[in-house]
Amino acid sequence: MAWNNDLKALAQRIKRYDGRQLRIMEVCGTHTHENYRLGIRSLMPENIRLIAGPGCPVCVTPAGFVDKAIYLASLQNFIICSFGDLIRVPGSGGGGSLAQARARGADIRICYSPLDAVNVAAENPRSQVVFLAVGFETTTPAACLAVKKAESLGLGNFSLLCACKTMENAYYLLRDSADAFLYPGHVSAITGMGVYKKLMLTGISGAVAGFEAGELLTALNVIIEKSKAGRPYAVNCYTRVVTDEGNAQARALTYETMEPCAAQWRGLGTIEGSGLILREKYKNFDAEARYNPPETYSDENKGCRCGEVLRGGIAPPECPLFGAACTPENPVGACMVSGEGACAAHYKYGGLKL
Ligand code: SF4
Repeated sequence: MAWNNDLKALAQRIKRYDGRQLRIMEVCGTHTHENYRLGIRSLMPENIRLIAGPGCPVCVTPAGFVDKAIYLASLQNFIICSFGDLIRVPGSGGGGSLAQARARGADIRICYSPLDAVNVAAENPRSQVVFLAVGFETTTPAACLAVKKAESLGLGNFSLLCACKTMENAYYLLRDSADAFLYPGHVSAITGMGVYKKLMLTGISGAVAGFEAGELLTALNVIIEKSKAGRPYAVNCYTRVVTDEGNAQARALTYETMEPCAAQWRGLGTIEGSGLILREKYKNFDAEARYNPPETYSDENKGCRCGEVLRGGIAPPECPLFGAACTPENPVGACMVSGEGACAAHYKYGGLKL
């Protein structure tokens, strides 16, 4: 991509940074992907470390969730609906992935929206249709909308297997892993800036970034400049989309339908209050409550170091399986499955230099 003079100037300022060691953590899979794809990662001087954190929803979904989905897929007259990437994520033990379960005959369908799954339920009244609801503040409202649509249609055969998460408490957990966060653009469009101002009061800093080269470079420059001052900060560098108040309607829909719960994250363990579960009045749409799929506790496949990648402990090539036993065609861990995963992004663009 050809960069204009403004972009080159922003890039030069990053390259010339000569301050103290700075660890900046991405918490959005698309930022991770774009920072690799655009070559922004290769601009970082020795004293800035850009860390790919837990921003990819498929990556942070634990193997036990995949196991539950595979269990449900094995039941008679069950249809599992899922976003595409998730079906390639290996579960724990020998159960393989949902894609492998589908190859064995399970009815597993790719949907682009939870509402598609409601249509599948309406078209298949003799089957139980379970939508695998994963994601952050951005995707959860659509899952809530699907539940309300199923309710309004009187569909008794639709439910969610829910692993929806919220980011706030993950920042507290990760505060020692980074000096600043590159806050996610899409999630922030829903949450607004309030959460970051709250984090700032506890000493946690970051800047919200958009997804174009100029937006990412601007946010990184802001982080660098603000970090020099040494005071906590929360800056919105994506004002064309993110407002102070965020999307109150989407938040109200989520709040009306779901309530916070403890959630298990791949690599981060269980974080109190970071998950969302359907409220009592919608329990009929909760696959977990209805079908009680067994819990499994084995998180990652042998040798896979996704957990450390997601905590910023290692870079993808430091995993011994990277590029050898684990490739996008044959992923061993979740971070190699999704294009937003750090391992997949590094595999595709890791050698890219500007
Ligand atoms: Fe896991 Fe593969 Fe990444 Fe290693 S390279 S951490 S096995 S996804």
